[in-house]
Amino acid sequence: MITARYHREKPQRYRLEAGKCTKCGKVSFPPRLVCPKCKTKKFKTINLKDEGKLLTYTVIRVASDKFSKETPFAIGIVEVSDGVRLTTQIADADVEKLKIGQKVKLVFRKIQDDGKAGIHMYGYKAVVG
Ligand code: ZN
Repeated sequence: MITARYHREKPQRYRLEAGKCTKCGKVSFPPRLVCPKCKTKKFKTINLKDEGKLLTYTVIRVASDKFSKETPFAIGIVEVSDGVRLTTQIADADVEKLKIGQKVKLVFRKIQDDGKAGIHMYGYKAVVG
């Protein structure tokens, strides 16, 4: 159920809340319980900027039934503040005009899938800004 799931979303999904390790400063998004770098369990909540840079992307031209009407679409790795990298769909973009290094903005969009395909992971998408 998309609606029920939508209302259960945790704050980091729409406010881009990340956890910053109080010991080594490593930023984890989504927040983790244990720092992957120094194993500390103490974090400070920070908000990531909603702007980032497109590091790399791939264009999906053939997708499963659920996403076939959205093709072609692009999945990219976006680097936002504090070196955090997110894998997300690049929405509303002409996939032929995407460029590595261009600026994108993260927007919160309704999740359309349970994430089995792994492309609607956090409920946000990147748009070319
Ligand atoms: Zn740490």
